[in-house]
Amino acid sequence: MSRGVLIGIAGGSASGKTLVAAKIYEALGPDGVAILKQDSYYRDLADLTPEERARVNFDHPDAFDTPLLLEQVSRLLGGEPIEEPIYDFTRHARSERTRRVLPVSVVILEGILVLAERELRALMDIKVFVDTDSDVRLLRRLRRDIHERGRTVESVLSQYETYVRPMHLEFIEPSKRFADVIIPEGGHNRVGVDLLATKVQAVRNERYAEAEAGVAPGRAPTGAPSTGRASNRADAGNRAVESDRSRNPMRGDLPRGGSLEVICGPMFSGKTEELIRRLRRSQIARQRVVILKPSIDDRYDVDHLVSHSQIKIPSLQARSARDVLEHGREAEVVGIDEVQFFDEGIVAALETLANEGRRVIVAGLDMDYRARPFEPMPQLLARAEYITKTLAICVTCGAPAGRTQRVTHRGERILVGSSEHYEARCRRCFDPPREEGAE
Ligand SMILES: [Zn+2]
Repeated sequence: MSRGVLIGIAGGSASGKTLVAAKIYEALGPDGVAILKQDSYYRDLADLTPEERARVNFDHPDAFDTPLLLEQVSRLLGGEPIEEPIYDFTRHARSERTRRVLPVSVVILEGILVLAERELRALMDIKVFVDTDSDVRLLRRLRRDIHERGRTVESVLSQYETYVRPMHLEFIEPSKRFADVIIPEGGHNRVGVDLLATKVQAVRNERYAEAEAGVAPGRAPTGAPSTGRASNRADAGNRAVESDRSRNPMRGDLPRGGSLEVICGPMFSGKTEELIRRLRRSQIARQRVVILKPSIDDRYDVDHLVSHSQIKIPSLQARSARDVLEHGREAEVVGIDEVQFFDEGIVAALETLANEGRRVIVAGLDMDYRARPFEPMPQLLARAEYITKTLAICVTCGAPAGRTQRVTHRGERILVGSSEHYEARCRRCFDPPREEGAE
């Protein structure tokens, strides 16, 4: 199995590190990527008195349990799951609970001081410093702490002068010289983020190739299609299988007995891209592929499957589950987009296609704009061998987002035919619509 790729993202308080991490996560697709925060590794101060705690400098490297962070990052990169601590900022103590992080092929580690620690740097494949002007950072911090944490201007400024600024100058700013890449303006720097994502992808591919080269011929695992993190296998292992497949394009090693793969998530989470990616691989492997979408979906183009980022692949329209069965029987690999728009007969049709030995890959919205399960997705998820949940980025706060928010404009002049649009939101920022007639 290949060793994971570690990308470290440092930068001052409120520099936009979190947004950069979220954007890279988004650009890579959530498949096989985990974000770790240095903040989770604050030392447990439960044993200190409140007075002692008040004197602790949380911007100093000693505030962090770096040995634990090092150990967990190493284990994760080596393919072992970890129990990431959850820090309770109200008590300045570690919570009893932990967050289980499964092995992934890319770990994004973000925090103010991640480049200040030599041993952490030694593990990193790519070191990034997010460089944002100190006045901008102070303004953001003032807004955030006053608005979200109910603090006074005076207390925020005093903390900034006493701890944040001196520690920034002593530890954070000097760590910039260790960076491979310095990103000005954080997550809003699209070119910078795209370049980084491309580089991470390249390093990841190199790792797969290396790992593969180390596998003796004939011992290579066969049969498993590409899967997401929700499957019960370690992600990195699946990735190795995928690259194996791409290097043996004539083998066509489909699993016997067929399978059903479901890619699901909110709008803007890259479901169609992921579907296209898998179908393209099958085409390269010279398998007979048929691509179908419901005929009501003519958003962009009637003859192609088109993702939001304008990746295209030719597709057929199907009016019903019967159409799907008919067209699907002509292929070895059947791909379906927007599967939630078919009626419930689709479940039986897809089961039949998979039972007859085909690889069936479907993508669809798992929840409607009320955050209720979208039939027939629950039926398909229950029957699928492999499930990939894609997440978008919350347009409000930048966190990974699993919900689709409907936004209606009342009293605004609408240029195009629709009076509403949709955006991705996280659980916290999602605002469920009121029941019809309740206004
Ligand atoms: Zn949010």
